[in-house]
Amino acid sequence: MSTNGNQFLREENYINGVWIAADSGKTITVDNPATGAAIGNVPDCSTAETERAISAAAEAFKSWRKTTALERANILLKMHDLVLENQEELAQLLTMEQGKPIAEARAEVGGSAAYLRWFAEEGRRVYGDLVPSPIPTRRLMVMKEPVGVVAAITPWNFPSSMIPRKLGPALAAGCTIIIKPSEFTPYSGIAWGLIAEKAGVPAGVVNILTGDAPSIGKALCESEEVRKISFTGSTRVGKILLAQSADTVKKVSMELGGNAPFIVFDDADIDTAIAGAIAAKFRNAGQTCVCTNRFYVQAGIYDSFVKKLTEATASMKVGEGNEDGVVQGPLINEAAIAKVEELVGDAVQRGAKVTVGGGRHECGQTFFQPTVIVDATQEMRFSKEEIFGPVAPVFKFEKEEEAVAMANDTVFGLAAYVYTQNLGRSWRMMEDLKYGLVGINEGVIATPEAPFGGVKQSGLGKEGGHQGIDDYLDVKYVAVGGL
Ligand code: ADP
Repeated sequence: MSTNGNQFLREENYINGVWIAADSGKTITVDNPATGAAIGNVPDCSTAETERAISAAAEAFKSWRKTTALERANILLKMHDLVLENQEELAQLLTMEQGKPIAEARAEVGGSAAYLRWFAEEGRRVYGDLVPSPIPTRRLMVMKEPVGVVAAITPWNFPSSMIPRKLGPALAAGCTIIIKPSEFTPYSGIAWGLIAEKAGVPAGVVNILTGDAPSIGKALCESEEVRKISFTGSTRVGKILLAQSADTVKKVSMELGGNAPFIVFDDADIDTAIAGAIAAKFRNAGQTCVCTNRFYVQAGIYDSFVKKLTEATASMKVGEGNEDGVVQGPLINEAAIAKVEELVGDAVQRGAKVTVGGGRHECGQTFFQPTVIVDATQEMRFSKEEIFGPVAPVFKFEKEEEAVAMANDTVFGLAAYVYTQNLGRSWRMMEDLKYGLVGINEGVIATPEAPFGGVKQSGLGKEGGHQGIDDYLDVKYVAVGGL
């Protein structure tokens, strides 16, 4: 894939409106996961650059918070337009560093624009309250104010769209932001610096740095100036950031790991369930926190579901994201594929059977075959651990209560999917599944208009929906007396 002429392929960081290299001059090499070839190098920044970004964001906050919601909305809409005008170039960059099929990359970039638009609109509706007072001479008011400087740490699986979910509400609310994208996919993150610059975002309002994650993360968490951390990534790192944020009592938003169940009842429309299953399992090669991790299928429909799922999975074309007809790219790196191999090995050793796939793909690198595993049981590791790869384990169940108990038997609680035509059962599932998101007869449900976020160890806070801006606002109560 040619990198020639992609204006968004920037090899510098963006702090206080200036493009910079790391103080040390050191860089991190970024590879294309489909070929293993180096794409280029980005700055390997650390504590000193982070502290400068924090100072810039704190300084910029003084004036940014005083702009009107309309001015901020107009700037966000400008960014939205720029993203759409450059959708193809941004999608090419994304596929090059992340590996996903180009159609998925285009959709992700489209989603990035949609989040900006949503928060540009929501920012204009941050209303306060006038509260009926119990004292005749006193008036009670509730105001909402931006929390201040925000830090965002984002992952490699959606390197473009995880940023506007945080940048959008932050800027709309009047906050300034420091963004640290994943070192595996930094270009789609750094691109936001260029988009902000072109849209006329004032210097210091958006800052982006790449480099040593633990030292950048620590500097952000320990800073008094940073009032909020918004993180999307693993539960392991989320816990580190929560602990590090305790000393300065920051607001936190955490979008962490998942272990999504996908329950198919005997009364489901099987073709709808199969279409949903493919989308919910194999999108982004299974590397999303809402990807199905466990299929629970009722005994009466089990055999036909397994047959159809196996056929549909076998027909998926694997390859480089830009090749025609490819629906599954590579996994992000060697560690990812090694984990998937390990989980498949564990299941097979405990008696599960592979009906299609099961190992590395002939494309080499980190390509893994789309895989279906049947006769899965709760003792197998993938019943508790996130697979984050293109492997679909299918478990059989008899009774509704049994499915609910198995589905909830996890420390995670992000997304759950249910396929049934029975209305009463749909309602029981909505209420009984301990998850932040539930799809009934739908396998892909995230959208800017709705609140996205998990319960239990899947996280804290919501992104999207009218709720998505609340975490970027402080509520202030003002009493006016002596009337
Ligand atoms: P994943 O398993 O999806 O790669 P990670 O949680 O490892 O998720 O990474 C998500 C983001 O967290 C990335 O930007 C990564 O650089 C960052 N990260 C990893 N370790 C730390 C850390 N100790 N402190 C702060 N950020 C970290």
